[in-house]
Amino acid sequence: MKFEFYNPTRLIFGAGSLEQLGKVVSQYGKKALLVIGGGSVKKSGAFDRAVSSLKTAGVSVVEFSGVEPNPRLSTVVRAAELAKKEACDVVIGMGGGSVMDASKVIAASVLYEGDPKDMLVRAGKVPKLPERALPIITVPTLAATGSEMNCGAVITIDDEKEKLKTFIKTEVLYPKVAVVDPELTITVPKAHTAYGACDIITHVTEGYFNGIDGTPIQDRFAEGVILTVLEWGPKAVSNGSDIEARAQVQWASIVALNGWVQAGVNAPYPVHMIEHTLSALYDIPHGAGLAVVNPAWMRFAAKFRPERFAQFAQRIFGLTALGKDDLGLAMEGIGRFEEFLRSIGCPTRLSELGIGDVTEEMLSYWADKTLEVLCDEEGRLPGRPPLSREDIAEILRMAM
Ligand code: NAP
Ligand code: FE
Repeated sequence: MKFEFYNPTRLIFGAGSLEQLGKVVSQYGKKALLVIGGGSVKKSGAFDRAVSSLKTAGVSVVEFSGVEPNPRLSTVVRAAELAKKEACDVVIGMGGGSVMDASKVIAASVLYEGDPKDMLVRAGKVPKLPERALPIITVPTLAATGSEMNCGAVITIDDEKEKLKTFIKTEVLYPKVAVVDPELTITVPKAHTAYGACDIITHVTEGYFNGIDGTPIQDRFAEGVILTVLEWGPKAVSNGSDIEARAQVQWASIVALNGWVQAGVNAPYPVHMIEHTLSALYDIPHGAGLAVVNPAWMRFAAKFRPERFAQFAQRIFGLTALGKDDLGLAMEGIGRFEEFLRSIGCPTRLSELGIGDVTEEMLSYWADKTLEVLCDEEGRLPGRPPLSREDIAEILRMAM
């Protein structure tokens, strides 16, 4: 094992943390662009509390509202123009992963010379990564992405030439501080709580199944995240006001993707890459798309490494090998995972996402779109195994 670990984001975690927002932000700037989504934070009162904390600390506020789920680059560009016009010196992203991801790219776009589209990953093009960004402060209101404490952002290019959900990952996008107050998540509807649980689990299964071999501690970290979500996720879904459950799930969401579980694993994210194509084309919630793609991908990949999936079945679901070979055990474990997703209210088939009448042309098109974002020298999506165009189509066929 060989790796470097770096995560400079200060994490302030716990119920009531929102009160500290003003003091925190005042250390980085005097005029904040406060980025929010479609209005959930106004309805819950969190927005007013944030503004009041900022004003008390002497920070003036410029509001940018309307970041959509699966955020568009055109929205990011509009927000960056506003931040420039108003001379904002710090960016606060208060919302779900969509708002936080958009805020990161807004903060970088303000100081970027050139077209922000060029920052984003596209197959066959070397991204021109930003070297600077305004200070970023994240205030998550939904436990899912872990965006609050990582340096990634997922953005959909939506110009007349291209519609592609792609990403950027670079150190200047690390938030300075993540102010994480689980009380902000109690208004998240059941469905999005469940989709968030699936996103958290998928962030660690990507590494568990696609990473390099010989990472036993990382396996245990990943299993810890999954077991925590299996235990506390259903409680957060059934009683949204259960603050203990909300806090456990939110901490799991951060641990799942702040780089710690990934250290030394060096894994690509094939399930995410395939899902991004669906959320780009059909505008479905990311976690719901993962609940459909991940079990199908697992069934496809298990044939290549059954022992790995058998370990998952044993350690996560306590299944035993009695009378079964590794592949049999692996398939039983995947079935149990799928049952869990269904039990909390996630869809597990494309038709449940409203994507019906799937044709062979559609499957090929989705595979092509996925490979437009990322592919290796042989034109395959990186992962274990690497996926050809036909493989991606087969996985999506299995998800019908
Ligand atoms: P989201 O798209 O940010 O939000 C989904 C919905 O939840 C929105 O309608 C939002 O409403 C609502 N919502 C958020 N907080 C709420 C609250 N406290 N109460 C009530 N409603 C609330 O969902 P997400 O799953 O967090 O983010 C998904 C995006 O992140 C996708 O684009 C995905 O690809 C990306 N992603 C990023 C990373 C990363 O590491 N950066 C990792 C995985 C996924 P409002 O708009 O009204 O607030
Ligand atoms: Fe995700």
